[in-house]
Amino acid sequence: MSRYISAELSQRIRASAQNRCGYCLSPQRLVMARLEIEHIIPLIKGGSNDESNLWLACPLCNGHKASKVEAVDPKTGETVPLFNPRTQSWAEHFRWSGDGTQVVGTSPTGRATVAALCLDSDLDAIAVRQYWVEAGWHPPEAI
Ligand SMILES: [Zn+2]
Repeated sequence: MSRYISAELSQRIRASAQNRCGYCLSPQRLVMARLEIEHIIPLIKGGSNDESNLWLACPLCNGHKASKVEAVDPKTGETVPLFNPRTQSWAEHFRWSGDGTQVVGTSPTGRATVAALCLDSDLDAIAVRQYWVEAGWHPPEAI
């Protein structure tokens, strides 16, 4: 299947996602790189280019997610589906650490997604978020 996504569809997804990463909530205005249209279910795993399978992700999260659709919840050892930013509520699966630099999973899916996407361990992201916190730009309000 082609990876082509029309400019119109891309624009619609950016608007639906409030122009921020569905996983770490980084807004486009604070990220140097262009946020990417990601396949919630990757094409290689049978996902489609349908709008219902597309969302916005920062290059870090999208890179860590790669072709994953599920991961192990480190608390229970169970394999569970990754967070779906289109259909699930961020606040029901995650919260910010006390210092605002790390995402903490609060459900099996949240914990598995944090582990798989390095939402609490990517040192570059943690370092950048420390500056965002100092500037008063972070953490954001959850959806
Ligand atoms: Zn992200």
